[in-house]
Amino acid sequence: MEKLILTADYHSHTQYSHGSGTILDNAKAASEKGLEILAITDHAVRHPIVGVSPKKYDKMRKDLEEVQKGFDNLTLMLGIEANILGMAGDIDVKDEDAAKLDIVLAGYHLTSFPYKFSDYFKITWNALTKYTMKSTKAQIARNTTMFVNAIKRHKIDILTHPGFRLDIDYKQVGKACADYGTYVELSSRHKTPDEKSIEELLATDCIFVINSDAHKPENIASCDFAIGLAEKYEIPEKRIANISGKKLVLRSKS
Ligand SMILES: [Zn+2]
Ligand SMILES: [Zn+2]
Repeated sequence: MEKLILTADYHSHTQYSHGSGTILDNAKAASEKGLEILAITDHAVRHPIVGVSPKKYDKMRKDLEEVQKGFDNLTLMLGIEANILGMAGDIDVKDEDAAKLDIVLAGYHLTSFPYKFSDYFKITWNALTKYTMKSTKAQIARNTTMFVNAIKRHKIDILTHPGFRLDIDYKQVGKACADYGTYVELSSRHKTPDEKSIEELLATDCIFVINSDAHKPENIASCDFAIGLAEKYEIPEKRIANISGKKLVLRSKS
């Protein structure tokens, strides 16, 4: 397998949530690394303290458009990383707000509490105990239901870091992503999926995106873990959507 050439990074954070750089800083870093596309995807509103209110989307868009003027060979996209919140698969970005964005990512974050208190026991507890106790079959089933429901119900373009914080049935989640047109992230920041899980995902028809999830400009396009995983498991290039100048087909825009 030849070395993969990453031409887009669809997951980066700025000071709008808790990244250290501005949109300009991220754009400069992406341009220096030779990317053609960079998405700015700060945390959505239910992420405590740092989540971005939809009221700020217009300001971010203006900021992004201003920065875009300085770059001919880099396309900036305005996105969000929504929070998946509870068994029903709710996310904290409404359709009318998503319409203002170029791309919608979604993932599970422990600190973003579900809307329903009962989900605290069904999901949050599983995340709190994942690294100290082996997840039970029932826990994995509930976590999986949450992800599958989110993928079914919402036009999520990329599922971020599946397996981070919650154990899931990768075959079911991968199948749902393939069926509904959601890309599965290989996350260099969270080192997910792990090696056992990648084989389960590969057994489905899901398509992957390699992302940095950079919270600092210098980490943009730093994807050694994910590229290493792709190379080790010989993921076919046709199953990686952000290499060699390819473009994503975005569910949120269909
Ligand atoms: Zn995340
Ligand atoms: Zn992120």
